[in-house]
Amino acid sequence: MSAFKVCPNCKFVWHNREEFMSDENVTIIGYQVRFKSLEEGFFLFNHSCRGTFAVMVRDFADLYDGPVFQERATGSDECPGHCLHKNALDPCPAKCECAFVREIIQILKK
Ligand SMILES: [Zn+2]
Repeated sequence: MSAFKVCPNCKFVWHNREEFMSDENVTIIGYQVRFKSLEEGFFLFNHSCRGTFAVMVRDFADLYDGPVFQERATGSDECPGHCLHKNALDPCPAKCECAFVREIIQILKK
C-alpha cells in the first residue's frame, strides 16, 4: 500500500495528504528553505510521538493558487528575512518569489 508519509519514529502511516493535513497530532514546526529550487525545500513537522520529520515543499505546492512573484526580495529592505530562520513560520509581506511557500505554511498551520 502506498503511503504519503511514514513517521520515522513511531512508524505511523498517513496514506494520503488529506489524512496527514487533518491529523491534529501533526504540527508544522519549521521550514528549511532551498533557494536554488524552492519546491525542493522542506517543511518540518512534529508528530505527537515526539518524532520530527521533513516533507518536501513540492508535495504541498498545489495548495497555493495565488500569485507567485517573479522577483526575489531576499536580502532587500522589503524582506523580513523569515526564510533565513528555520523556525519562523510567519507569512511574508514582500513581493518575493519565496513568499508563496510561506502562504502554504499558513495553510499547514491550520
Ligand atoms: Zn510518530
